[in-house]
Amino acid sequence: MTRDDLAAMDAADALSDMRALFDLPDGVIYLDGNSLGPLPAAAPARIASVVSQEWGTGLIRSWNDHGWIDLAARVGDKIARLVGAAQGSVMVADSTSVNIFKLLSAALRMRPERRVILSEAGNFPTDLYIAEGLADLLGRGHTLRTVAPDDILGAIGPDVAVVMLTQVNYHTGHLLDMAEITKAAHHAGALVIWDLAHSAGALPVELGALDVDLAVGCGYKFLNGGPGAPAFLYVAPRLQAEMRYPITGWLGHAAPFAFEPGYRPAHGVVRAVVGTPPVISLSALEVGVDIALCADLGLVRRKSLHMGEVFTNLVAQAGLDVALVTPMAARGSQISLSHPQAYAVMQVLIERGVIGDFRAPDVLRFGMTPLYTRYVDLWDAVWVLADVLASGVWREERFSVRRAVT
Ligand SMILES: *Cc1c(COP(=O)(O)O)cnc(C)c1O
Repeated sequence: MTRDDLAAMDAADALSDMRALFDLPDGVIYLDGNSLGPLPAAAPARIASVVSQEWGTGLIRSWNDHGWIDLAARVGDKIARLVGAAQGSVMVADSTSVNIFKLLSAALRMRPERRVILSEAGNFPTDLYIAEGLADLLGRGHTLRTVAPDDILGAIGPDVAVVMLTQVNYHTGHLLDMAEITKAAHHAGALVIWDLAHSAGALPVELGALDVDLAVGCGYKFLNGGPGAPAFLYVAPRLQAEMRYPITGWLGHAAPFAFEPGYRPAHGVVRAVVGTPPVISLSALEVGVDIALCADLGLVRRKSLHMGEVFTNLVAQAGLDVALVTPMAARGSQISLSHPQAYAVMQVLIERGVIGDFRAPDVLRFGMTPLYTRYVDLWDAVWVLADVLASGVWREERFSVRRAVT
């Protein structure tokens, strides 16, 4: 493969126009959109207008006049289209961690005779921490059982209340079989909660068709909503009336502005809302989601898979001294490579404008984000990596100084 071959792939790429919708800095190859999506070109103007006109001029009138009060549901309905969910089943709210707490808590209440939360040992830590903390809070003997991905199906027994998994593993990029696991969980009488942090906007998801019970997802990764963008949650319409959430805030009340003395849950997915939404962040998220809605997710998925293949072929062609971590037959939209000094290697890459990230203890992560990553970027990134590894420059001490965020 030559760089010209990759330039030809870019020329033939039906998604190549999408790159202009993002404001990417010159001299940077951004392979970390799986961790923080880049700035949509339209976001600064939208945010500025929300701040200066809607907030500055409209003041409190904007809750009605600019639809702030409906914004979380409106963006939720847009996200619903990306994850195969019915309108009225997705709400933007809180962080992914908090949404896991809310949904898991409600799910455990729906299976009072069961005590096990089943997850994957390598799941993203916050998902597991939240489950541990909730089990402790409930004080009713719930346990978190974590197993290897291949052991999930075998571990779904009659004691399992909830199967809580992330569809695409943040570390390895491994894609779980949502259809098969959801079916097995239901067969055993358990509920499922899927975390879509690395799937929403990255690949077609069919929450409705697969009869998924509950799901959460992240706004700042493949949805390009900006740092700390609010997250989303999904509740299957058939469960919405049954859900009893652990945080009963006024905006999940049936009539928030009646200011009644007692809590009465709202109908529908709105019940999962706690308090006032972050309007400025939500507006930024809407810009990112609108871009995702412009692209055919089938095309995005095809290009992402192809990019992963091309990237790993280039790594092999360059004879790099790294090991492939990602299972190529079942993967999301990232490629993980391992190297004993992955942290230092990634610091050099970043200094040279190739931005991926490091995940302890030894993984180099590279996100494939078809909306703005070009095939030639993969070529350039792999050859910078080859140079970094061959030169041994990562041995310089300064590259081993751990920073707070890796
Ligand atoms: C990124 C990510 C999160 C993030 O949770 P926050 O509450 O937004 O910090 C949660 N779960 C998974 C699987 C993730 O990848």
